[in-house]
Amino acid sequence: MVSKIIKKIKNLVSLNKLFGKKVVHVEAPHLFGEELKKHLLRYKSKCYCICPSNFEYVNSFFGIKENKKEFSALLKKYFLSIKDKGINLQLHVHLSTFPEKLSFRKKEEMINSSYNFFMNELKIKPKEIVFGWYASDNDAEEIAKTLGLKVIKEHFHIYDWWLK
Ligand SMILES: [Zn+2]
Repeated sequence: MVSKIIKKIKNLVSLNKLFGKKVVHVEAPHLFGEELKKHLLRYKSKCYCICPSNFEYVNSFFGIKENKKEFSALLKKYFLSIKDKGINLQLHVHLSTFPEKLSFRKKEEMINSSYNFFMNELKIKPKEIVFGWYASDNDAEEIAKTLGLKVIKEHFHIYDWWLK
């Protein structure tokens, strides 16, 4: 049973690696930014980008040497550099594996803060959002809708940290 599930996951990873090159979930540009830039030169992929509001998530998954303020500055610089190359940047926000367990206020704070990072720091008006693990609930989708964001559901994609 377990081996069957593992096989299924492995197949899904291969399918994403095969068909997902044009869409990247960017979660660790502080570690794999150079690799991503090389990939983007070739594929011009659309990037769904993690924002400073997910500092804790990125830190626990990948590790961050910088403090939150430095990390925000680093993200800003990096995203502006790929925006300059004509790459389409959209939002990627990790709420929780169980978004219904978070308060409305917390979800609103995370989504709004990511949206504001795009608007104020990157000067980009985002049109789409992909929630981490595709985990969203009615509240999250309502908040996104209020900001004029289309919630993108499951699709083929790769991660920047797969490029390592
Ligand atoms: Zn993600």
